[in-house]
Amino acid sequence: MNHNEWIKEYKAKHKSVRGLCQSATKAMVETFPELQRVRGHVVGLGAHWWCVTPDGSIIDPTVCQFPFVPASSSYEPFDESLAHTLPTGKCMNCGGYLYYQSQACDEDCMQEILTALGQAWRPGTYRYNPADRPKYYDGWQ
Ligand SMILES: [Zn+2]
Repeated sequence: MNHNEWIKEYKAKHKSVRGLCQSATKAMVETFPELQRVRGHVVGLGAHWWCVTPDGSIIDPTVCQFPFVPASSSYEPFDESLAHTLPTGKCMNCGGYLYYQSQACDEDCMQEILTALGQAWRPGTYRYNPADRPKYYDGWQ
């Protein structure tokens, strides 16, 4: 089985491949261990996962979810040396992403959480770390 046959079979198994880029790439590298999974951003289309062959060609098992086939230059890999800047959780109050082990987005959210828990507010004792967030992050995890 070659890459295209695998993709065709994968598409046949799923009603839609929309939002399946993460799991599709995971499954694809299990079948083709020479492929490398890459996460990043496709210009104009958003956060995405795809595969790369040893010679650098892009194999995108869920490309058909896009309205057009992106040029290979549109695939911008995430700089994995910045992985420590990815969110470490979500705010219990508003659902926004949290960074660097923050406990809430900001003081307002922390106060609302404490109020809901019936706990007292103690200024200066909570962590709100700056969101030095990656340029294109919108949810790979
Ligand atoms: Zn919040």
